[in-house]
Amino acid sequence: MAEQHPTYIFWNNELTPWEDATVHVTSIAWSALGAVFEGIRGYWNAEQEQLHVFRITEHLDRLQSSTKLVRLPLAYTTAELTDVIVRLLRENVCREDTYVFPLVYGADAEVNRFDPNALASELTIRTKPMPSRLGSDFQQHARVSTWTRISDNVMPPRIKNISNYRNGQLATHEVRNDGYDVAFMLNPYGKISEAPGACIAHLAKGKLITPDVTSGILESITREAVITLAREELGLEVVERAVDRTELYLADEVFTCGTAAEITPIVSVDKYPVGAGRIGPVTRQIQQSLEDIMRGRNSQYARWVTTIDMALTTA
Ligand SMILES: *Cc1c(COP(=O)(O)O)cnc(C)c1O
Repeated sequence: MAEQHPTYIFWNNELTPWEDATVHVTSIAWSALGAVFEGIRGYWNAEQEQLHVFRITEHLDRLQSSTKLVRLPLAYTTAELTDVIVRLLRENVCREDTYVFPLVYGADAEVNRFDPNALASELTIRTKPMPSRLGSDFQQHARVSTWTRISDNVMPPRIKNISNYRNGQLATHEVRNDGYDVAFMLNPYGKISEAPGACIAHLAKGKLITPDVTSGILESITREAVITLAREELGLEVVERAVDRTELYLADEVFTCGTAAEITPIVSVDKYPVGAGRIGPVTRQIQQSLEDIMRGRNSQYARWVTTIDMALTTA
């Protein structure tokens, strides 16, 4: 069966028909080296016939920071990128949960890869269906990987750089070959950092605890939303600090959070059952409050969603 694809991808400064967005094979090797990206989700609300894009401004501002750190120019402001993404979602008639993937990469990267001033950038933005797992019983078993997380003086994990994913890929291959679902990585100080594409939080003695932003984590927008909700909606004390691996072995609840992971319950770490070895009540509550907001059902957090009316759009 041929792969389903959207009608358009944003490339070469315009909505380009999918089939026309091609590059020469010799340009691929070095182009991903400094490439930076974002992962953004749109949540479909069938009754409203609206797509709600979660925290698009925060994601696009982070894309600006990522391009700055890798010294790539980006010819668009956050407001301009927002307009492009809204137009792309409309033109692709995204009437379902959708993932939006903007990618900025160096043009002529092979020739210019060591010249800090010579890199011109290109931008692509693609959309693809990605059904939410919030509200399902999806859960994972974690193992602490023997691979150390990259650190700020090695390859800064703070930004979404494609190259950073090599580190997480090694860890994921390792733990999946051993029958686990997800890798937890320690930083060079032996403290918990994050999973390859998601941050980690745990609940102990009624407090929500998560590694602080200098633990070698990506400053996750979902993590920030969870911290806000835990405080404002659940009345929990939240602590950001260095976390030992054994704290996770003894925790009442553990979950990962990120745009792709959403809130994924972790039911065991290194074969230690987390709490009762099932999805915990606080994890469920956070999943529910977040899903309400993401699907445009909680006007109190309307500032977190950009709503696209799709009532007049048909495939
Ligand atoms: C994207 C990402 C996350 C999650 O960040 P969000 O802003 O919540 O999507 C966490 N860790 C890594 C390494 C990531 O790339």
